Amino acid sequence: MSKIRNIADFPKPGILFKDITPLLASPRAFHIVLDAIAERFIGEHIDAIVGVEARGFIFGGALAARLNASFVPARKPGKLPAACDEVQYETEYSVATLEMHKGSLAEEARVVVVDDLLATGGTAKAAAELVRKQGGYVVAYAFAVELTFLGGRERLMPVKVESVIQY
Ligand code: 5GP
Repeated sequence: MSKIRNIADFPKPGILFKDITPLLASPRAFHIVLDAIAERFIGEHIDAIVGVEARGFIFGGALAARLNASFVPARKPGKLPAACDEVQYETEYSVATLEMHKGSLAEEARVVVVDDLLATGGTAKAAAELVRKQGGYVVAYAFAVELTFLGGRERLMPVKVESVIQY
């Protein structure tokens, strides 16, 4: 997809970063990606979209509006103003934390976890842990882009994983 740009050595030397900003800059491409994700949930009741900071907010917010669902942000530490639940998870280089306001989800709420890109799956898995901590049920994960060679989908099994552009 020409709307995904490769940026070499970002954020560290040796990493080829998939930049989604050209996709966001194209109303048509953004629309196509959102529609492609939304149509996979036709006929399914979704109570809430949990979007992961920061690019997951862009896709997650737009998707929540399309699916008539609540939008709930999962954020980096110290960003949310009220009391939070938190989950720690390991990234390739460090330990990271995600937070979600307590009481964001109703008991057994049907939730889709959304982010821009699936790499190893660690971030999405942590967001799902927050959902479960609040008594929610993760129906699926949805991503605009999936790096299939990193095995994220396998890590998130057996929950359904939807993605639009695969590398
Ligand atoms: P994971 O936890 O699946 O290994 O990494 C996914 C998280 O890192 C997502 O929040 C995603 O935004 C970010 N990420 C990792 N690599 C890339 C990349 O190449 N492009 C973009 N846009 N995000 C990335």
